[in-house]
Amino acid sequence: MNYISINDYAKKHVKHNAGESIKNVKERLRSTVARQEKGASCTVCGQPIWALGSTFSGFDGCFSCFTGESDDSNDYEVY
Ligand SMILES: [Zn+2]
Repeated sequence: MNYISINDYAKKHVKHNAGESIKNVKERLRSTVARQEKGASCTVCGQPIWALGSTFSGFDGCFSCFTGESDDSNDYEVY
């Protein structure tokens, strides 16, 4: 997993998703990371959640359940 700050990720995200507000994206990411820090778990398998995937899909899941892959070396996670 490649770790990226919420601010940096939000900038990237709005670049690729015209029309989304950076403020809104940051708030959503912050609230998911806050839940992750409190121990939120994947609704499918119970592993710790993948904050990035959970933020944009609308439910709590881990990296493997979202992507079907165990290799997360090309993906991002926010902190
Ligand atoms: Zn899972």
